[in-house]
Amino acid sequence: MDNIIENLNTIVAEIESIKQKFGLTEDVEILGASKTRDADTLQILNRDGRVRVFGENRVQEFTQKYTDTLTWDIIGQLQTNKVKYVIGKVRYIQSLDRFSLADEIEKQATKIGITQKCLVEINTGAEEAKGGMALKDVQSFIATVKSKYPHIEICGLMAVAPRGIEENKLRELFKDVRKTYDELKDEYGLTVLSMGMSEDYKIAVECGSNSVRLGRVLFGERPRVL
Ligand SMILES: *Cc1c(COP(=O)(O)O)cnc(C)c1O
Repeated sequence: MDNIIENLNTIVAEIESIKQKFGLTEDVEILGASKTRDADTLQILNRDGRVRVFGENRVQEFTQKYTDTLTWDIIGQLQTNKVKYVIGKVRYIQSLDRFSLADEIEKQATKIGITQKCLVEINTGAEEAKGGMALKDVQSFIATVKSKYPHIEICGLMAVAPRGIEENKLRELFKDVRKTYDELKDEYGLTVLSMGMSEDYKIAVECGSNSVRLGRVLFGERPRVL
């Protein structure tokens, strides 16, 4: 556990120095990408106070770990038939990327009388994301959700960068997403730009991410099974 707090100290310092270097003033949230990590570890981190939300990829694992004493997001691809297990239990569904999924979220949110907050996932060609929509389609998607899905609130954008992409390409990609975010944020009240994982969070912050999703750099290497 000491290690995790040390890792977190390093991450916080890195983010602070990048913000200084690039004159950035927005707060950057650190989300713990908690797949394969046990609930006790998350509680300890939660008590520290600097990581206030945990992101799960798989609904089954989320359901097993879920407790209302922690704040959760869904960050992995979401099948429509699994929406009913996460609705109302997560702060954001970060992986909203198609109307069929919006239809089901709307239906389930209506059923329990809540508004589900979501981020729209951008397709960057990342293999591990297996989803997302093209940047050019985001505006009309958000406009449609806003007018036709009263139980969904879009709060921002999310992107997973392809692995091993060359650094300048990565910058370009993150900056493109930030640009679209800037173009839409006032009109649609967006506040969250979720970009950056262990390998690329420093570049993501440089390019204007305000929420990084960190797994290995925070918790250490994942066990091989998953
Ligand atoms: C696993 C995962 C992360 C964190 O990955 P690391 O490389 O371990 O930091 C972030 N975002 C998503 C969508 C993930 O699935």
